Amino acid sequence: MTDQQRQWAVESLGRGVFLFRWHPGFYLSCFIVGNRGVTAVDPIDDAAAVGYREAIASVTDLPLTRIIYSHDHRDHICGGAMLRAGFDCEICAHESCRHRLEQRGDTDIPRPTRDLGDGEVIADGGAQIEFRYFGPNHSNSNLLLLLPTDRGRMLVWVDGVEPGVAPYRNLPDTDFGGYLYSLAAVEKLHFELVCGGHTGPDHRRWVTDYHDYLLRLRDATAVAFRAGGGQMLRPNEDGVAMTERVRIEVTQAAADAIADRYGSWRGFAAWAPQTADRILSYLITGN
Ligand SMILES: [Zn+2]
Repeated sequence: MTDQQRQWAVESLGRGVFLFRWHPGFYLSCFIVGNRGVTAVDPIDDAAAVGYREAIASVTDLPLTRIIYSHDHRDHICGGAMLRAGFDCEICAHESCRHRLEQRGDTDIPRPTRDLGDGEVIADGGAQIEFRYFGPNHSNSNLLLLLPTDRGRMLVWVDGVEPGVAPYRNLPDTDFGGYLYSLAAVEKLHFELVCGGHTGPDHRRWVTDYHDYLLRLRDATAVAFRAGGGQMLRPNEDGVAMTERVRIEVTQAAADAIADRYGSWRGFAAWAPQTADRILSYLITGN
């Protein structure tokens, strides 16, 4: 099979850390090869998991011994049954991930068997995985990983920071205040590279860039909201129509205000107004 026919790619970052890129879905997951076995992050879905197994087998004969769910979102963590088939494998996640899977009653996602929290470390030979948890941000269950690589320490924050791409649409399932808090906390950590679940790895400055982007968009949204007089009815205007008018005017003005600085980021034109819409809800309600 040629590389073009194959739907995945695998990349070594050194120190036993690899990236599995799943092309059809524009997803990536990292996996770590230790002395005793393989730890795989985020199985993505059944089709990806077939490619994921091939990718792991292309670099090691060691068995899969651990799956880590980065957070509870289905688009990253279906496929676990396929990925672990035939292996004796623990499944690790933050306890909030386990709770949400239980609440949702997802029957197609193997349940976590081990809770991981802030500051925990899993070491296997030269491979060492450090876990950080900063409370709700993108989901309330996002576990961040710190991994050694030949290019320096790499932070993995799936859907939290996706280098080169603007924050996604209306920040689905995101606690906006918690997101700002988490970005500030992450900026204080020691690492050189950052990787998401779709793009990366790239320079750590993307964490600061994301933080700045969201702060500037928050401020621009607040300015545009005040400039338009807030949520005020015009003569003979219906309340619902007013709300929608304000939303469109404010979110586009806010996006336009930061376009000079961030317009080159992929997705900016389509997503910045949607992100501003999410931020306007945060400004109005507190989240
Ligand atoms: Zn997500």
